[in-house]
Amino acid sequence: MSAPRLELRAVRHSYREADNERSILRGVDLEVRAGETVALVGRSGSGKSTLLHLTAGIEPIESGSVRLDGRELDSMDDHDRTVHRRRHIGLVFQSFHLLPLLTVIENVLLPVELEGRVDAEGLERARALLTTVGLGDRADTHPDRLSGGERQRVALARALIRRPAVLLADEPTGNLDATNADQVLDLILDLARRENTATLLATHSREIASRCDRVVELQDGQLVSNQPA
Ligand code: ADP
Ligand code: MG
Repeated sequence: MSAPRLELRAVRHSYREADNERSILRGVDLEVRAGETVALVGRSGSGKSTLLHLTAGIEPIESGSVRLDGRELDSMDDHDRTVHRRRHIGLVFQSFHLLPLLTVIENVLLPVELEGRVDAEGLERARALLTTVGLGDRADTHPDRLSGGERQRVALARALIRRPAVLLADEPTGNLDATNADQVLDLILDLARRENTATLLATHSREIASRCDRVVELQDGQLVSNQPA
């Protein structure tokens, strides 16, 4: 078996509120392999989003380690962490976060644009991804013309444009009806396998979780392994 792409060891995190320190993660260990999709479940407030933010380097880790293809996140400064995130991590959120003034294909190409110029290869990749998510003919439209399911498919194409090693999805189907949720999940599972992306997907839906390769559950700040139904 290949080495894990994503490796979390003894990750701890707490939030300070007034005079209180609330411990959210109390020693989380997790490995996700290339091409594997792991569902992260747990009740609301259990720390799923916090865990994804730490993994993405959006928030610094208090203690423990996050490694991506062996690179240790904690040894990076803020700037390096941002560059690392743009290059190696794709993010999908519940509320899509598309830019309304950009066209669909401009949204998909945004991560490339942030790193420099969009070349022919980038453009071709964006078109191919849009075709894969079933929106090949909507490249020049604006997000406000799209349904929720279509918006999330654009967001997925954007997350994958730079061939990230890791895809982090925070309740990606939370704003979608059952049919669209299924469709978006099918695409995530299919693309993760095809592109060899290690995917961590937070969801409160047991049904969504049961379709992933593996399910882990946050309980009292720790991960409990939990096989798909
Ligand atoms: P989940 O995604 O599983 O619903 P979160 O990771 O969003 O859980 O939140 C875990 C806990 O941490 C919650 O009790 C939440 O209120 C708290 N929390 C999240 N972000 C912050 C913050 N920036 N400051 C203080 N508390 C926070
Ligand atoms: Mg959350």
